[in-house]
Amino acid sequence: MIRGLVFAGLLAAHTVSGHELTGHTVLLQPIVLTDDAGDGAAKATLPEELIDLPFRRWDLDFQILEPVEWSRRAFRDGEIDVDVIVKAAREEGVFRQPRRIANMFFARKINGRAAPNGLGQEPGWVTFIAQGGDPPLGQDAFVVVHEVTHNLGLSHTVDDAEVPSDIPNVMGDGDFLDRIREDGITRHQAATILKSPLVRETVKCLEVEEGRRAYLGESFEDYYTELNRREVEAMTRNAVGKDLKGEALEKEARERFGNAVMGFTPEEREVLLWMVGEYRKLLVEDFPLLANQPWQVVKVKSDHCGGFCHTRGLSVVIAEGALNRMVNDYRRHGKSKTALAGAGTIIVHEQIHVLQRCFPRKFSGLYTGAYGLVDGKVGHDEWVARNEIQNPDGLEGNRWIVDYEGNYYWLKTILDEKDDPAMMPASFQEAIMPLRKTGETYRVIWKKGGKKPQLVNPNLIRDWKKQFPIRAGHDHPNEIFAYLFQAELTRKIMGEEPSGDPMTKKTMAWARKELR
Ligand SMILES: [Zn+2]
Ligand SMILES: [Zn+2]
Repeated sequence: MIRGLVFAGLLAAHTVSGHELTGHTVLLQPIVLTDDAGDGAAKATLPEELIDLPFRRWDLDFQILEPVEWSRRAFRDGEIDVDVIVKAAREEGVFRQPRRIANMFFARKINGRAAPNGLGQEPGWVTFIAQGGDPPLGQDAFVVVHEVTHNLGLSHTVDDAEVPSDIPNVMGDGDFLDRIREDGITRHQAATILKSPLVRETVKCLEVEEGRRAYLGESFEDYYTELNRREVEAMTRNAVGKDLKGEALEKEARERFGNAVMGFTPEEREVLLWMVGEYRKLLVEDFPLLANQPWQVVKVKSDHCGGFCHTRGLSVVIAEGALNRMVNDYRRHGKSKTALAGAGTIIVHEQIHVLQRCFPRKFSGLYTGAYGLVDGKVGHDEWVARNEIQNPDGLEGNRWIVDYEGNYYWLKTILDEKDDPAMMPASFQEAIMPLRKTGETYRVIWKKGGKKPQLVNPNLIRDWKKQFPIRAGHDHPNEIFAYLFQAELTRKIMGEEPSGDPMTKKTMAWARKELR
């Protein structure tokens, strides 16, 4: 408690609001090692304001993603060589975007050496941190900054002829807090850092090749491996051979999705950069976590995915048609609030989905809390798996369950069985399935001799839906949040009063507290 108070005082002395906008971002993914049962997590303290401090004046911000846990006791306790740990992590797909995201392990010991201590590839993208139990002020932040700065390509000042080693520096000697203060990185060092592949432009329209890599990447979730045949048809507007399945289907899907990626025109780029810049300014004070999450945009053909905007990994995927609407708003209204309140707000909606993907535990608190959903697991159902169309922005489609008037329901979007091939969105059908709970698992109900699970009339849960003043998207809480937030932002842009709707008010109160 006392330490917390001291910290607050120090931060005030540095006049850091923590809410400024920067043009470059490093994403840091903490990987916290636990014992084999998932308990006894290694200490992972990441005081973001302190970590950001020496990088700010060089226009660089750290965005620290929600930690993931990895249950490996021997790794946590430093009994295994770090090279072996890195190899295992690669094989098990533990890393997020190798080479582009700073992946940081938190352990109790590193190569047998006790905490506090750290190890960082130079240059590279993997670090190991072992934080001590009762650290002096600034030590936890310093070790994180120091090791990740090795990743960013810097050596110790004693080995760097260009940097004086007699003044405090993140790569030199001195008191912990002195080394990570605002001038803890020299201009010469910053020039090296900004060339690192870990440093990304905070707002970027991806060119075709980079866009394709981003769109086909799966380091945040499996997507192409999970698609069913009918989904691929609907999203790519082209029939798929009935016998195509498994790896062949995945390969076909990847090829079609990759071919949909396009390059931006100079005008589209100009409009997007202006709009996103303005949205970030509107968001940074109350929702810095959202404003500072990198905004990377991939453009796809208009007939891909029915022209719907969506997200994949860290990217917002915008259809050409939606981009045209933004450009038209801009041509018609110039740099005005009317242009900002129009088609462009979809980018914020989609960026929210990127954030939801990076901070799933945070958002689940809202969904089980204010939204009243059950965080459960619906057992696999063959009919659903064959006919559903998954929402790429809410892939945990068997997780969220509606609890209404004592009954459980599963809300899904199904491709109409009569349509062959299925079309997007013409074949979309709302499927509301009552669930039966057995132990911890929820199951759909099949009538004897039936051809599909029992479905109920959507009107049955009309009153449940009415709590959320949105037209569509009730089938996943990621959508509920994104639509409510988008509408409120639009009101703010137009200078209107905030909504009086109770669910919107709860949503925004949660966001102001949690998206900092
Ligand atoms: Zn070092
Ligand atoms: Zn959405």
